[in-house]
Amino acid sequence: MKELAIKLETLNSNRESLVLIMAAFFAAIIAASLFISANFGYFLFICLAMGMISAPLLGRYWCNWMCPRGSFLEYFLTRFSLRKTFPPLFKRGYFLAFVVVVFMFMMGLNFFNLYQAHPAVSALGITLTRLLVVSTIVAMVLGIAYEPRAWCVFCPGATFAKLAAAFKSKKPHLVNDAASCTSCQVCAGNCPFHIDASQSGVISDPDCLKCFACVEKCPSKALRFSDQA
Ligand code: SF4
Ligand code: SF4
Repeated sequence: MKELAIKLETLNSNRESLVLIMAAFFAAIIAASLFISANFGYFLFICLAMGMISAPLLGRYWCNWMCPRGSFLEYFLTRFSLRKTFPPLFKRGYFLAFVVVVFMFMMGLNFFNLYQAHPAVSALGITLTRLLVVSTIVAMVLGIAYEPRAWCVFCPGATFAKLAAAFKSKKPHLVNDAASCTSCQVCAGNCPFHIDASQSGVISDPDCLKCFACVEKCPSKALRFSDQA
């Protein structure tokens, strides 16, 4: 297991080009679902499933550089984002549950309305495409107003991934070797979710993407990833 954190770090060194590829892929999926066939909307299910399947082993690593929408937001919004700290509400459990319920409700209502006039496969495809487009517009507004990946904090897919991740504890964890930490907060300033990694020991924030930004930027080299909790 110890090698897992090292492997992730190696993969992360190629992150920039992977983010670009996934961002372009996401733009292509949106275009295809709008102009070729609404069945491309089924891509939402694939994305959700991949995040959940990988979460018990890797935590939110899928969201880090494999989620096409996360990559799209990061790649295109970084230069426009106001980079403000998002409200704590975004991380509250009841708010995450509320967003999931609203998503499910909108999906059910849309599908029910479309199902009257379309075969089930097409009705679901159109529903998923609408959800994909509307949620991406919301994600872009939030990404400009706060951090580029503000949406990733309460994305329903991320909420399910966090639940799936809770079933296994032996995944790479961010660890602070307190001796050299100077509490400078450079880690929080460079984290897409403003996670403060200055407390000693394991930093177990479920939102951590394992993006290594804090590890690389920490001036005291106090942070590392370890496979041991
Ligand atoms: S950036 Fe490093 S030294 Fe500064 S608070 Fe974070 S862990 Fe501590
Ligand atoms: S900057 Fe550090 S704490 Fe924040 S998401 Fe990346 S790895 Fe996790």
